[in-house]
Amino acid sequence: MDNGGPLKSGAKIAVIGGGPAGSFFAILALKLAGEMGKDINILIFDNKHFSDHGPRGCNMCAGVIQDSLITKLKGIGITLPSDIKREDIEGYSFHLRGLSACIKKDPSTSIYSVFRGGGPYGWSVIPRKKVSFDQYLLDHAIKEGVKFRHERVSAIEFPKRGESKVSVICKSKNNSKVYKADFVVGAFGVNTVLIKKLPFGYRPPKRWNACQAEIAMDREHMKERCGNMIHIFFTRSPKIKYLAITPKGDNATITAIGKNVGINDLQNEIINSEINEYLPRDWEFICHCHPRLPTTPARQPYSDRCVIIGDASYSRHMKNGIESAFYTAQFAAETILKNGISKEILKKNYDKRCRKMFYYDNLAGKILFLLHEIISSNNISSTVYLDRVIKEQSHMDPKHQKVSKLLWHLYTGDMPYRYILKRFFNPVLHVQFAYETIKKIFKWACAGP
Ligand SMILES: Cc1cc2nc3c(=O)[nH]c(=O)nc-3n(C[C@H](O)[C@H](O)[C@H](O)COP(=O)(O)OP(=O)(O)OC[C@H]3O[C@@H](n4cnc5c(N)ncnc54)[C@H](O)[C@@H]3O)c2cc1C
Repeated sequence: MDNGGPLKSGAKIAVIGGGPAGSFFAILALKLAGEMGKDINILIFDNKHFSDHGPRGCNMCAGVIQDSLITKLKGIGITLPSDIKREDIEGYSFHLRGLSACIKKDPSTSIYSVFRGGGPYGWSVIPRKKVSFDQYLLDHAIKEGVKFRHERVSAIEFPKRGESKVSVICKSKNNSKVYKADFVVGAFGVNTVLIKKLPFGYRPPKRWNACQAEIAMDREHMKERCGNMIHIFFTRSPKIKYLAITPKGDNATITAIGKNVGINDLQNEIINSEINEYLPRDWEFICHCHPRLPTTPARQPYSDRCVIIGDASYSRHMKNGIESAFYTAQFAAETILKNGISKEILKKNYDKRCRKMFYYDNLAGKILFLLHEIISSNNISSTVYLDRVIKEQSHMDPKHQKVSKLLWHLYTGDMPYRYILKRFFNPVLHVQFAYETIKKIFKWACAGP
């Protein structure tokens, strides 16, 4: 096999991680290889059983699958069955300083909530295996011909001079197994120590420690208090940027996003805020986890015969991590089958495409979230902001619902951040905003103390 050229028939690819990035890569690479008349062998390693309850079997996320990803999945022949979908989401409800605004989705689109693993502790639905989104993707890959090993990879050894195989090492207490491959794909996410052990210039993304918890809720209560909406709360807590309630049938996932959120921060925020009103009176956390959220891209997520994909490489700032995994998997599969497997080729064809898609757009995303935080941290601007959304939703033509759309795009991630930022700087919007702010100040001044 040519050392730097595209992978040829008979090539063996080891994929470390059977989360979305690993399964997407396997499915897309097999599909592309088939179209190119190549016969390749893919082996996925993962130490998790996605049918297990609790964080042990789960890749720890809010489990919101947006329409753009659903469409992409359909495009590669994957339609999520009903036992994977926990809820058909109808829209988002935004809560800010006692005000609430509801934005419903376009009825022609879909948003689902799913469990990434077998559901929270104490949860039982038979057959459990069918519940997990990650297991469903992995099963699909296996059905297409991918092999799977339920093992943790402890190290990767790169070929010495004159050799061409990469060694994937799985060490357990009693033995050590070595698998030889022509190419290795790192789809191990950011919740693993492996990101610190790669023997080349790779530097993992910087990460936040988010916090998630599950609350059991009977369906009637859920329908009455939360509807089928995802509720986003902009909190006053300095530790939590925002908090989300995602309905999942007889459960709700509570997600708190911040640099370092502990379970006590999450609990205190719920107890001391309006969030409490949306939950059952005797609520308790039945399961919780502390997943890491990448906040920067990785440095050099590639080497000779190796590429890193998914969260461990590039992902969209704060949103659509699973869809980002799809893109990085697609770019990697195309590069190694069409262009080559050397460091230089991966830099030019894989890394450059990822940077083009995520790097500058994420900068725009960071600016947008900062602006949003500034507006929501002030009493007057936040009231004007949410009042405007409420007004737009109650009687304005969808064409003129400019602020609602900004909020919608920002929290569903259904539009690149740079386009949302451009819309944010629409001068008409700011004139209206200034006018409403002056009106509000005047009204308050007239009302007196
Ligand atoms: C709080 C929070 C909420 C989120 N909510 C959403 C959401 O609603 N929607 C969305 O699209 N995204 C969401 N995300 C992002 C999403 O979780 C990730 O983007 C996505 O899981 C990335 O997929 P991945 O395959 O790269 O990594 P992971 O999902 O982390 O999968 C990595 C896999 O590799 C395996 N692995 C790790 N190390 C080894 C090893 N040494 N050997 C073998 N296997 C190994 C792991 O067991 C795991 O199965 C959220 C993230 C956070 C933190």
